[in-house]
Amino acid sequence: LAGRLRGFGTTVFAEMSALAVATGAINLGQGFPDEPGPPEVLDAARAAIGTELDQYPPLPGRPGLRQAVAEHQQRFAGLTYDPGTEVLVTAGATEALTAALLALVEPGDEVVVLEPIYDSYAAAVAMAGGVLRPVPLRPGSPQPGGATHWTFDEAELRAAVGPRTRLLLLNTPHNPTGTVLTRTELALLADVATAADLLVLTDEVYEHLVFAGAEHVSPATLPGMRERTLVVSSGGKTFRTTGWKVGWVCGPAELVAAVRTAKQYLTFVNAGPLQPAIAAGLRLPDTYFTGAAADLQRKRDLLVGGLVAAGLPVLGPEATYFATVDVRPLQPDGDGVAFCRSLPERAGVVAVPSVVFYDPAHAHLGRHLVRFAFCKRDEVLGAAVERLRGMA
Ligand code: PMP
Ligand code: GLN
Repeated sequence: LAGRLRGFGTTVFAEMSALAVATGAINLGQGFPDEPGPPEVLDAARAAIGTELDQYPPLPGRPGLRQAVAEHQQRFAGLTYDPGTEVLVTAGATEALTAALLALVEPGDEVVVLEPIYDSYAAAVAMAGGVLRPVPLRPGSPQPGGATHWTFDEAELRAAVGPRTRLLLLNTPHNPTGTVLTRTELALLADVATAADLLVLTDEVYEHLVFAGAEHVSPATLPGMRERTLVVSSGGKTFRTTGWKVGWVCGPAELVAAVRTAKQYLTFVNAGPLQPAIAAGLRLPDTYFTGAAADLQRKRDLLVGGLVAAGLPVLGPEATYFATVDVRPLQPDGDGVAFCRSLPERAGVVAVPSVVFYDPAHAHLGRHLVRFAFCKRDEVLGAAVERLRGMA
């Protein structure tokens, strides 16, 4: 393994999903739904297979999907993008993020992130030869309704930005904490980005999975941000098709062209027949998107209630597929990794230790935290909750 990838062995998701299969435990580790996506999306994919759509799409993506992405950005964020030059289809959000970092970060450039971070970020920054500058998010006290908002310290943010800082990489709604950055926090981030003339890369894959009391604000909508921001999202979470890996990036034409240059030599193009299907999803009425969030909010409440009953303090999410617990009442040494390794045997459930989302230097901030996914059928969540209760 090349030096720049040392330390990036197997992802925790692969390890934990394999553990679930090997032990027969209920897998609340890797975040993937166990219910099919909307019929309009699935039917469009079935109709496309066996046609000319099976062949290479155009490099920037099928025109119909680029148009649908542009309309979606207009409808939900009020942002206008030219589907011809300002939208690029990618192999999931993962490729969009990696291609953007490869295209825009010079070796030695620094990338500021709010930590914990989704696991592909550190590897992608390393592949680009960049240096991560994590700014910690810390949990506040639970709000009425049970959600916990995580936030950062302004002085720590400002101190992380220096002469080598090239890019600010944001994820809202945030995995693994389930936090949705507020307008006030985004204004501060925008102030820092504009003052230091940074590029901004935003990962918004959970944009539609936001619960009552929180509101997703796309960072590109803040003053001075659209011209420096690449917005990344994908259809996986919104349409329960995580295996399809249809993503996109929107931004100023010059930045999108740079990402396209990297993308063309990573995968060239991807997922021909799935592209019109995700376009059909993006054109679904507002009620689809609000319904998906409401359904998931109910699942959150089901799992959170069960975790609390099992004796685990929960840091409830404002959005996403995930809830975080503090394992110390059931794991007195506070070792979340040990807790997750023993959980299949103790309770027949698999979860992910949150420490994997932290830089090793900040491991103490996440050592005692564990992430559970609730994007599962009610029966599965009910069974998991019963098993966890038996453990207390
Ligand atoms: N970003 C975040 C925050 C995620 O949680 C995930 C994974 N689900 C991704 C990116 C990857 O998205 P995709 O599957 O579209 O590549
Ligand atoms: N994004 C999902 C999660 O955070 C899974 C991603 C993956 O398997 N790489 O669990």
